[in-house]
Amino acid sequence: MNVSISCPAVASTMASMCGGHPSVGWYKDVWDAWCVPKHSIICWLIKQEAINIREKLFRLQISDNNQCVLCKNGIETHEHLFSRCKYSEQIKEQLESWLQIQIDPQCIGLSLQQLRVCRMTLAAFWYCVWIERNACRMDNCLKCPQRVVQEIRRLVYARIRVKTAGAVKMQDRIRLQKLDLIV
Ligand SMILES: [Zn+2]
Repeated sequence: MNVSISCPAVASTMASMCGGHPSVGWYKDVWDAWCVPKHSIICWLIKQEAINIREKLFRLQISDNNQCVLCKNGIETHEHLFSRCKYSEQIKEQLESWLQIQIDPQCIGLSLQQLRVCRMTLAAFWYCVWIERNACRMDNCLKCPQRVVQEIRRLVYARIRVKTAGAVKMQDRIRLQKLDLIV
């Protein structure tokens, strides 16, 4: 429930009771309404470095191995898994080639529609990498990057169909058509 408190004294008291919440620059990138909610939750955990990656489990002596299961060529940190891992890099490169934009919501010059597509694609990308990492770790099976890209494209198409099911402004429709995301 979103309650607006107009009295400054009450607002100040509420803030001191609830504790301060630092604002973060990535809030809108993670919680954009166009992102699939379960993707947003994984993104939110990744941004806070709160998922149980191997480096953390190794440090806590819960795991005896801290190597990345996807590329087997690096320590599985948050940064490695979602930014530097060769497996993830291949997926990201193919997605950027498809969309013709960098998958970075902080990029300057994106239109609102490009920004929303960028956010939802990044969220789907991280979610799918995490799913693949878990499948690889548990079942020792790993899809090729091309198959993961196909899955992300399907997720993005499906989400855009849902979000544009109502009236879409002609200008927005033309921009999405340019990205080949709606017909
Ligand atoms: Zn890796």
